[in-house]
Amino acid sequence: MKIGFIGLGNMGAPMAINLAREGHEIKGFDVIADVPEGVAKAGTAAEAAKGAEVVITMLPNGEILKSVAAEILPAMKAGAVHLDCSTVDVESARFVAQEAEKAGILSLDAPVSGGTGGAAAGTLTFMVGGSAQAFDIAKPLFDIMGQKAVHCGPSGNGQAAKICNNMILGVTMIATCEAFVLADKLGLPRDKMFDVVSTSSGYSWVMNAYCPAPGVGPKSPADNGYQPGFAADLMLKDLRLSQMAAEAADADTPMGAQAAELYRRFVEEEDGQGRDFSAMLPRFEGRHRG
Ligand code: NAD
Repeated sequence: MKIGFIGLGNMGAPMAINLAREGHEIKGFDVIADVPEGVAKAGTAAEAAKGAEVVITMLPNGEILKSVAAEILPAMKAGAVHLDCSTVDVESARFVAQEAEKAGILSLDAPVSGGTGGAAAGTLTFMVGGSAQAFDIAKPLFDIMGQKAVHCGPSGNGQAAKICNNMILGVTMIATCEAFVLADKLGLPRDKMFDVVSTSSGYSWVMNAYCPAPGVGPKSPADNGYQPGFAADLMLKDLRLSQMAAEAADADTPMGAQAAELYRRFVEEEDGQGRDFSAMLPRFEGRHRG
């Protein structure tokens, strides 16, 4: 396929490399990053989009997505697919989908989980909103860049799935970290805590696959000085998106709100910026109640 790829940062570059390796013809554009090997360089976003059957965007936020969409949609050919893999707010995703429809372009919101490791290995999970027709066109590309793509329904539903998942993840990480600190204070060894909880009703992906306690459970960022992994800053971004969506939809999400506030403090006022989101554990260790 002829593919335009806009936003070649930590995630976009390895995704574009995987597509190029499978023989797709990629034209890339980024305002700062260089195009990776195997990708032809375009001078503008519109140039990358012109003539492409699919244009992929992998951008930092909804405002940037909207401005890039305004450039690329008029340049794209009718019936082509705009595949946005960025994590953005549900409203921006739905707005961009409407603009695409007006321009005769098919569109999908398809945020990912799996991080930079998954992007490099081609093992991302895509959560996809948009028409079945667009999903079918993009499916072979999902198969290269990822291991699973779930069609979640109409436009915006991919973003909805992503922020709901990450709200659970953020809340669960905090609950797991505070439970470890309570266990420490009660004299319960961490390996015993892991042994019990990972096979009891408190188990979770956080405990079982990404344990925030160093030296306990499978290898995780905790064993690597809390280098990300999944940075606390990105968790804060996703929790903010979930709270924006909760407000707009009038959903009551008190635990999500509390998690967003704790990660805000951690990233903006403490030493959380640039650390893995599981570094909530050392944060709690150094603190007392109140
Ligand atoms: P990044 O900052 O490394 O990459 C974004 C790229 O977009 C940058 O290279 C930037 O120069 C480029 N860009 C910004 N404005 C542009 C414009 N107007 N035109 C063209 N290019 C522009 O970020 P990332 O880590 O690659 O994340 C991309 C998206 O994926 C984000 O929405 C993020 O939330 C999401 N995401 C990231 C991860 C992760 O682990 N990094 C995991 C899941 C989802």
